[in-house]
Amino acid sequence: MTPQRASWAEPYKIKMVEPLFLTTRETRARAIEEAGYNTFLLRSADVYIDLLTDSGTSAMSDRQWAGLMMGDEAYAGSRSYYHLEEVVRRRYGYRHLIPTHQGRGAENLISQVLIKPGDVIPGNMYFTTTKVHQELAGGTFADIVVDEAHDPRSLFRFKGNVDLAKLEALIAEHGAARIPYVSLATTVNMAGGQPISLENLRAVRALTRAHGIRIIHDMTRVAENAYMIQLHEPGHAHRSVAEIVFEICSLTDGATMSAKKDALVNIGGFLATNEDDVFEEARNLVVIYEGLHTYGGLAGRDMEAMAIGIEESLDDDHIRARVGQVFYLGDKLVEAGIPVVRPIGTHGVFLDAKAFLPHLPQDAFPAQALAAELYLDSGLRAMERGIVSAGRDSRTGEHCYPALELVRLTIPRRVYTQAHMDVVAESVQRVYERRASIRGLEMTYEPKYLRFFQARFRPRPG
Ligand SMILES: *Cc1c(COP(=O)(O)O)cnc(C)c1O
Repeated sequence: MTPQRASWAEPYKIKMVEPLFLTTRETRARAIEEAGYNTFLLRSADVYIDLLTDSGTSAMSDRQWAGLMMGDEAYAGSRSYYHLEEVVRRRYGYRHLIPTHQGRGAENLISQVLIKPGDVIPGNMYFTTTKVHQELAGGTFADIVVDEAHDPRSLFRFKGNVDLAKLEALIAEHGAARIPYVSLATTVNMAGGQPISLENLRAVRALTRAHGIRIIHDMTRVAENAYMIQLHEPGHAHRSVAEIVFEICSLTDGATMSAKKDALVNIGGFLATNEDDVFEEARNLVVIYEGLHTYGGLAGRDMEAMAIGIEESLDDDHIRARVGQVFYLGDKLVEAGIPVVRPIGTHGVFLDAKAFLPHLPQDAFPAQALAAELYLDSGLRAMERGIVSAGRDSRTGEHCYPALELVRLTIPRRVYTQAHMDVVAESVQRVYERRASIRGLEMTYEPKYLRFFQARFRPRPG
């Protein structure tokens, strides 16, 4: 029996530290202007607490660092590849593995292998890179997430669930032959880190099986999703996160993974599939885009660290502390009356910029403006997840106007302390108090693809 404790205290202690520097407001004002009011374009040296993303920003364990030394750098047939393959098979149950440099490398491969021009790919809400690869392959994304996912005030526990009626309607409209797969994310990033329930996933499996449609699993945050099932879905409290993860994977036909999130590495990803012919074709394509099929754009040491990180990510104490820290920040903001997406998600706290800045129209980019303002206040770096991220409609060329206009405070794994979370909460509260003075932005440069990464802005004339 583990001793009972109410706190989510971290199951590790700190062995190495990296200094942080707080800059002056003047320096920050210059930095954000030079960055075109886009937090992606800031230099990290000008940032104090970096909550831009939880992608590739985790702290590795001493075991993982030791793994880097053990990596086998053979061009072909690396021992580290076979270690990773063994872990993926044992922990996730997928038969075939193709490493890629990160998640989008795997998304490119699976989209090219499975999507034909004119196909429709239903998904539980879009993800930026996933949708672009589907479109580049000639497909169209169709949203089948439950309506609650688009409502930041809904307290529904499983906002990542698929609306089965929406999926059935799509199948009736286009025919199963036009739907190569359902793209299913655990947890749903764009909805605020919201989980899908096992009950819903089982139902999606039954429906897709009846129509001969695959499920391709975006398993980037599958351990966090499994933890939410353990916490909140009736009948699963006694099961380990590892067990639940294995069952989730068993209900799908293949997966794309960005190992930069749950799997606790700074770079890496993979494509996994249970289908021999899909594996054959993807294995043939990977040599064009990534590298040989036993390294896929990664060093042997990266695959070694990933194999170890996957095991660590499935530890119940680890995931409880990781998500516990996110909940700590979220609860603090809720108590302070700050409008945030609820329930609090697993990888970050999402500020509801529409409610935060109700005086700004959506085409004044409220979430982008709020992220810039937070940086100015304290050197805190957050990310826009709203109209800028949603991009333009590929047919009409107009802005997409997503229901959710959010600023994401994303918590890297095993990096910051509870005191850092307090600093973040204080900064958000200060900006909230002077929210009426925030003017909004206009876009001065717009890239063609994934514009949120490189777009530039300036303050709207006052
Ligand atoms: C990060 C992410 C991706 C893309 O992975 P990269 O490693 O950034 O290429 C895909 N899906 C989800 C849900 C993600 O969070």
